[in-house]
Parts: sequence; structure tokens; C-alpha cells
Amino acid sequence: MSVFEKISPISGEKLGEFEVSTPAQVNEAVARARAAFAPWRDRSLQERFEVLERMRQIIDRRGEEFARRISEDTGKALLDALMTEILVVPLFIDHYRRNAAKILKKESVWPGMLFPGKKAHIEYFPMGVVGVIAPWNFPFQLAMVPVLSAIIGGNTVVLKPSEVTPLTGELIRELCAEAEVPPGVIEVVQGDGSTGAALVDAEVDMIFFTGSVNTGRKVMAAASKKPIPVELELGGKDAMIVCADANLKRAAKGAMWGALVNGGQMCTSVERLFVVESIYEEFIQLLRAEMEAIVVGDDEDADMGAITFAPQLKTIETHLQEAKKDGAKIVCGGRRIDRPGIFFEPTLVTGVTPEMLLYREETFGPVLPVIKVADEDEALRLANAHQYGLTGSVWTADLDKGRRLASQMECGQVSINDLVQSVGNPKLPFGGVKSSGFGRYHGDQGLLTFMHTKSVMIASGRASTEAVWFPYHGKHKAMTRLFHSVLGGQWVGVGKAFLDLLRTPKR
Ligand code: NAD
Repeated sequence: MSVFEKISPISGEKLGEFEVSTPAQVNEAVARARAAFAPWRDRSLQERFEVLERMRQIIDRRGEEFARRISEDTGKALLDALMTEILVVPLFIDHYRRNAAKILKKESVWPGMLFPGKKAHIEYFPMGVVGVIAPWNFPFQLAMVPVLSAIIGGNTVVLKPSEVTPLTGELIRELCAEAEVPPGVIEVVQGDGSTGAALVDAEVDMIFFTGSVNTGRKVMAAASKKPIPVELELGGKDAMIVCADANLKRAAKGAMWGALVNGGQMCTSVERLFVVESIYEEFIQLLRAEMEAIVVGDDEDADMGAITFAPQLKTIETHLQEAKKDGAKIVCGGRRIDRPGIFFEPTLVTGVTPEMLLYREETFGPVLPVIKVADEDEALRLANAHQYGLTGSVWTADLDKGRRLASQMECGQVSINDLVQSVGNPKLPFGGVKSSGFGRYHGDQGLLTFMHTKSVMIASGRASTEAVWFPYHGKHKAMTRLFHSVLGGQWVGVGKAFLDLLRTPKR
């Protein structure tokens, strides 16, 4: 039996040991989820929501306790846990309770000129057993939202939480038990990458993966052998563009929150701040003043908590050392804080260039790299010339300009004079382009992601044949007329061609 340790990011002490689920245990969990699938699928939407409603009530009642436990697991500030991890989940339940029936309902479509007398509709059916593989940075939200989205549609799920945050994995297990989720509908398997790989290899029907690009590639390669659908929610390198006409005070406060919320350990963290040169010096002073006011710690008023685990600290330090060596300037911060656990100073870096690791790769820490640009066009060009395309923002008083720049940004989500918060809006689809992955969840698409689409066309069945079926003998002229009439949108010609086809004498 292999185990992994959980070390507290706040105290540095060992909090426990967890068993790595073996491939055999993963297969057993998948088998339980498979057995639960048909009965769960056959429940009405309303019956499924009764289970979700019980979860919602528990979250409502125990939300603050959950936030404390997630904060202990991740080191994140208590209010980050409450607002960005917990609150989002009941909001999604509420949104889908109101809209799921409409999103998942059969949709009638007009079959078109070529199919007279027929009916057609599109319907959706669940994929089966979905494997959800979650990261450590939002271990509750990024597990629960895909899990609940999948089960609303009638799927069952095997969830593999991150080995970095097993306490939240246990919390989810506890929540499911207390909410009396039927056995097998949500299975949780704890473990490391080997457990995740075993889940992809098991008899699952889809994988929803959130994590790094490197692991995403492995997941996709393994899934391609079957093949099964995968959705990949990968890394980001958010580009924030500050125009000369922006409300600079708001933009500075926004940049601070966007870069430091959750200790900067977010796929949507501002990691490239483009500032036009005419306001550059003034804006740097504003940023510096805002950053120096950030309170780091583990009490309930802290703005920013700990770095969740040691390898993340190494990445942050390496990026900063390399950037400094290549000419970047640390305006404030830049060091680990001398106290137990892993706390790092909020860090403002200027003189950042596209060649630096700090610019090319995800830093995933409380570091705000600033790039001076001549104008918005240069900012846009740089923002788009990057491997990642998850989120971005534009800051300007001219909303038309903001909309134009937002439309030109190559990413899945863009905000104008705002940032990050759109992720928490259950109505808006979320996902990336380029190396940030593909597929969307949240919003209407967030349910359909876990469904197969089925197209149905219906003929009354009264006629003994169809005009366009065999035999083709003698139909060439009428069929050619039909071809041209359909393409020309000529109703009368289509009708005449069909009549001629039906009247074609038998051989
Ligand atoms: P990671 O890729 O190291 O791990 C993610 C999950 O994959 C973990 O549960 C891990 O155990 C599992 N895993 C590892 N190897 C595996 C394998 N071979 N097969 C299957 N599963 C395997 O990522 P992480 O460090 O946990 O998370 C941080 C990354 O996630 C960052 O890149 C961040 O940007 C990204 N992220 C993306 C989003 C998004 O919505 N796009 C959200 C949050 C985090």
C-alpha cells in the first residue's frame, strides 16, 4: 500500500497520511458508478435536484466550517475560501435548478426543403460514467462544479481530487454522505497521478480534466486510445491591458486583486500586466502603494494566505531569480516570509520581457509582472502572441474601444474594467483556447458538455417509399431539378421536382 502525506501550508506540520487508491480500487469505484448509472439516469430531473438541494442546504448551514477546512488544506485566505470556493457551488445549483430542464429539453427543428412532410428534433442523453480529475488550487469548486454538472444530466461520476489537497477530497466525500447521494453516483478516489492515470484507463465514458498542460497532454493521449471524449481546462497567463484613459485607481486595485487573490494560485491570475507608457510611471506608483497595503497571514482578516505546497514556492523563486538575472526589477516583495508554513511577499516586478520564464510560463504565485507598451495595439499583439488563452481584461473609459479590444483578444473569457469574477457567474461558459485547453463548462454548455447529442428525424411511415430512394432509373432530370431548386431556395421548383420523382414510371 502506498501513501502520501499532507503537510499544512500554514504550520508546516504533517496533517495526515492518505492511501493512494490502486488501479484495482479505481476500477471498483468505476464499477460502482456504472451500476448506479441506469437508476440515476432514469430518475427525473426533479428527483435528481432533490439530492442537490440537500447538498445546498448542508453548504448553507456548514459553509463557514467548510471554508475553514479548505483554508487549512490550501492555506488560502478564509474569505477566499468562503467566496470563491463555497459560494459558487450553491449558486450553480440554483442556476441549473432554474434552467436545466430548458437546457436539456428536446429541441424541434424544421427539417428543411429536402425533407418534406418530416419532423426532426435534437435530444440529449448522458454519457455514462464521467471521470473528473481536479487540481489543488480550488479543490472544492473545481471538483464540485463539474461533478454536479455531470450528475444533473444523469451521469454518474468518479472524482479524483488532487493529492495536494486530500482534506478537501474527504470533505466532498463527507458532504455526499450527509446529503445521502445514492451509492455510486459520486465516487471519490484519493491518490496521486497514478490514480488519475488509472481513472483515465478505467471503463469511464468521458474525462473532465482540470490541471496543467503537461498532465492534460498525458490525459488526452491516454483517452485517445479508447477513444473517449476529454475536456481539458488547463493553465493560463492572464493578460490585463491598461489603457491611458482607464480609471487608474480602479485598475490598480483590480490588478492587485486579480494577481493576489488565492495567493495568485489561479489559472485566471493576472500574470502579464500591459501598461501604456504615457501613464506607466504613475500607475506603477499606484500599484506599489496598493501592494504594500496587502495583509498576508492566516487570520480571518488576511487578504492573502499561504502558498499551498512546497514545489509551487520553488517555481515562484525560480521565475523571479531568472527574471532578475535578465534585468527585471523587483519593485516590492520578492521573498519568502520568515514564519512557519509557506508564505510569500506580494511581489511587483517591472521590466519584464517576453523572453523571461516569468512571462512565458505560469508562475502561479503572488507575483505581478508588468510590461510597458507603446500603445494598446502593442499590448494586444503581445497578449495574443502567447501559448495560453484563458482570460484577459481591458481597462478603459471608452467602452467601445474596450469592446473592440475584448473581441480581438484570443482567449475564452474577457472582462472590461473588471477581472476574474466572470468565472463565478454560472450563466457564462468557461474554458480556454490554445494551450489553455478546450471545451466549455458553466452556463448552458456546462450541462451539454456531459451529454451526447442525438438527432432524430421522423417520417410518418405511411408512404411505401421515398422519392429519392432507389430505383434511380428515369429520375436523373427530376433529381437534377431538385438539386438546383433546393440550392436556389425555390419552393415551387422543389415541389414540382418531388412530384416528377414520384410520377417516374417504374422500369
Ligand atoms: P496537475 O496537472 O499537476 O494535476 C492535476 C490533477 O491531475 C491532479 O489531481 C493530479 O493528481 C492528476 N494527475 C497527475 N498526473 C496524471 C496523469 N498522468 N493522468 C491523470 N491524472 C493525473 O495540475 P495542478 O498542479 O493540480 O493544478 C494547477 C494547474 O491547473 C495549473 O496549470 C492551473 O492553471 C491549472 N488550472 C486550470 C483551471 C482552468 O479552469 N482552466 C483551473 C484551475 C487550475
